[in-house]
Amino acid sequence: MKSLENKIALVTGASRGLGTGIAIELAAQGAEVIVNYNGSENRASEVVKEIQDAGGKAVKMQADVSDQASTDRLFKEIMRLYGRLDILINNAGTSQAKDIFDINNDDWNRIINTNLTSGYYCSKKAMEIFRNQNSGRIIFISSVVGLQGALYGHVHYAATKSGQLGVMRTLARTAAPYNVTVNAIAPGIIETELLLEIHGEEGVKKIADTIPLGLGKVKDVGNAVAFLCSDESGYLTGITLDVNGGMYMH
Ligand code: NDP
Repeated sequence: MKSLENKIALVTGASRGLGTGIAIELAAQGAEVIVNYNGSENRASEVVKEIQDAGGKAVKMQADVSDQASTDRLFKEIMRLYGRLDILINNAGTSQAKDIFDINNDDWNRIINTNLTSGYYCSKKAMEIFRNQNSGRIIFISSVVGLQGALYGHVHYAATKSGQLGVMRTLARTAAPYNVTVNAIAPGIIETELLLEIHGEEGVKKIADTIPLGLGKVKDVGNAVAFLCSDESGYLTGITLDVNGGMYMH
């Protein structure tokens, strides 16, 4: 039996990048995966098809998780379809290549809402479900930036990635009596479209040269997430697992 057989997993922002890698890995471990997307419906359909073609189970569900009403609808639909949820992966996120001199309040609020407030909305709904079930797993996809600050001045992004860790540690305490674990992954530099968009091809190459094991792949993050969702990691809570190829050691 696969390690996540019969589990229902929601991966926010799974139409691209890390979210896609996580969705594919959880499905490979037997979970039925809800592939959440905001704007990229076709990409979400492709992810679902890839999972199904490999013999796994997945559905796509649209929701803007930075919006509370939209997030509430998402959870209502999940409960209508499955009547339960076992795993929440707070992955949806974005960034912006600007430092404090160039961002305005709209930039700040957009990044905070997309990366941090989304995790609050989703976790609040999931915690209610998990408390009733007396089981569940929450994983925040933070970043090495959450530990050491942003490397290129993305101050709003850094605030969200550190903020996620504070929320995660607090929820780990709140959730423990309900047999629920809450953890984070702190990826280093993983090859995705967001990365290319922010740093450009030359920039990405330069960064890769500074990392002992080079750039990471979405599968590396997927593997780590699958481990934190498995029964074998049941005594781990409140931890931040580095997936950074030796980029930052502490
Ligand atoms: P991508 O830009 O490649 O993908 C972002 C995903 O998030 C898309 O699926 C997008 O969906 C979704 N998304 C964005 N806003 C929303 C929203 N409001 N509601 C629902 N979904 C949303 O990013 P990455 O894969 O690189 O990043 C994913 C996460 O990983 C982020 O939290 C990021 O901080 C973190 N991370 C990434 C690293 C990297 O090197 N790439 C390193 C460390 C952390 P759609 O296209 O449908 O709108």
